[in-house]
Amino acid sequence: MSFIIGSKCISTCDTACVNACPVDCIHGPIDIDGSGEEVKRLDSVEGLQLFINPEDCIDCGACLGECPVNAIYESEEDCIKSEGNDESVKKNYAFFGQEYQA
Ligand code: SF4
Repeated sequence: MSFIIGSKCISTCDTACVNACPVDCIHGPIDIDGSGEEVKRLDSVEGLQLFINPEDCIDCGACLGECPVNAIYESEEDCIKSEGNDESVKKNYAFFGQEYQA
């Protein structure tokens, strides 16, 4: 299980979650190791989002209350239930070269 960043992050990319994460597993929208730093240098985050690395997430929940648009889900199942499909879950895994196995 991993916390997952859902579609509400798209075009928001607030990085408060990154600062809260004790294991530095939130990255993107472009750099898979950049901890959201590139957000400050981008002219626009339109269509972009941050991602949680499922392999590194320790399910601590520290990021959850930090997101201003409530884009973070406690599990893959919660994300799928809320969004109606597993697209966001797959995107979190794929961003780090991993495959989501339901
Ligand atoms: Fe990081 Fe904890 Fe959020 Fe996982 S649940 S992304 S380890 S802050």
